[in-house]
Amino acid sequence: MTPLNKCPVCGGDLSKKNVEKLLRGGANTVTLKVEAEVCNHCGERLYSEDVVKSFEEIRLKLKKQEFEHFRVLGKSFTINEEWPNRGIQPTA
Ligand SMILES: [Zn+2]
Repeated sequence: MTPLNKCPVCGGDLSKKNVEKLLRGGANTVTLKVEAEVCNHCGERLYSEDVVKSFEEIRLKLKKQEFEHFRVLGKSFTINEEWPNRGIQPTA
C-alpha cells in the first residue's frame, strides 16, 4: 500500500506510532501492540495491508479456538447477572 500522509477521515497529519489493539473472535480476545499511522487530529488509525491481513487471521484463529500462536495473558471476564446496575449487561 502507498503510505498516506493525510488522514482520509479529516485530512489531519499522520504520525507513526505503536498502538495497542484488541481483536475479538467469538468470545475470545487477543491484545497486541502494532505499528500504525495515527491521525494527530481525530485519532483515526491506519494499518498496512499485511497487518490488516494478520488481524483477520488472528480473528479467525480465535473463532476456531486455534491458540498455538497465542499465550495466556490474564483472563477476560464479563459481568454476571447479579451486577446491581441493570444498564450494564454481559456481552454473552
Ligand atoms: Zn483524522
